[in-house]
Amino acid sequence: MKSVQRYANPSSLQEALAARKADPGASYLAGGTCLLAGDGRDRPESVIDVGRSLPREILREGSLLSIGAGATFQELAESRELPPCVTDAALSMVNRNTRNRATLGGNLGADKSCSSLIPILIALEAEVEAASPSASPANPPGLERFGLEAWLRSRAEAPDIWRAADLVVRVLVPLVEGRRAAYRRWNRVACDLSVLGVAASYRIEDGGVSGLRLALGGQGPKPRRFPALEALFEGVALPSREVIEEAVSPLLRPIDDLRASAAFKRLRGAQLVADALLSASAQYGASALSGASDHRGERIW
Ligand SMILES: Cc1cc2nc3c(=O)[nH]c(=O)nc-3n(C[C@H](O)[C@H](O)[C@H](O)COP(=O)(O)OP(=O)(O)OC[C@H]3O[C@@H](n4cnc5c(N)ncnc54)[C@H](O)[C@@H]3O)c2cc1C
Repeated sequence: MKSVQRYANPSSLQEALAARKADPGASYLAGGTCLLAGDGRDRPESVIDVGRSLPREILREGSLLSIGAGATFQELAESRELPPCVTDAALSMVNRNTRNRATLGGNLGADKSCSSLIPILIALEAEVEAASPSASPANPPGLERFGLEAWLRSRAEAPDIWRAADLVVRVLVPLVEGRRAAYRRWNRVACDLSVLGVAASYRIEDGGVSGLRLALGGQGPKPRRFPALEALFEGVALPSREVIEEAVSPLLRPIDDLRASAAFKRLRGAQLVADALLSASAQYGASALSGASDHRGERIW
């Protein structure tokens, strides 16, 4: 079993970036619930602990929500600034011990198909602010901003490019008046990963769905938007649950794996899409006062 041989514990973002520049093969270490879990085959020899370097505050800044990448799932779940769809997604990590360690930045860095947070953040048009290891005290960081989906894809497809800005420092979520959103997932047992995850966001204009974004996890190697599904419902009033499921199911192309058969994932995935679309409630602003189905009643977004 491999074990970590070198451990750096910088106390600032600048120091973390300088450490990475000095040791380009090192991995950033956040909660370690992914990086250090498992049997050690993929365990890095060298890590840079970013626990003291990254912000973890969750703030409203004008029409943006700013979430520090160091925020843990438990902090997201307890935040009074976040809309219900994001706290729902954080709470879908059922194991509280893990929620106390696992961070937002680590969830994006791990970029797993079963991620609890990526689908809802894509649906909400989140952006990431990321820092480059080529920065150092002599060459200040200059945070770059990317659409979350673009950042994730460029990391996966062109590693040389993404390494230029591979440390997520903050996630920014635009607050859009009237936007409805919901997150739904399916797992095998209570503390399981999200085998299937679905996030939806849209507004209602002239009685029809507008600006629909549907992001699904568990239907392929990475969570992503499904433009063909979005096109089914854009501009029209949402049909019944049965009609939604019947339209969505043939457009899903999951694979069989040890978590579930392809046929099951298609069927259950279509049900989750219908659930997310039909249960999406207003998340921010004045419209949330009348539209929210907030299970914590007293909260106003
Ligand atoms: C028992 C258990 C249950 C779990 N349940 C769930 C679940 O329900 N839902 C779910 O989504 N996941 C789940 N996971 C997986 C894991 O907890 C999550 O992926 C978690 O968000 C990882 O965060 P972390 O802070 O522990 O990251 P780490 O394990 O420290 O790092 C993960 C990856 O991200 C990189 N990284 C860390 N921080 C950053 C950053 N700021 N910017 C860029 N890259 C970074 C690391 O280099 C590494 O590649 C579970 C894991 C366990 C052990």
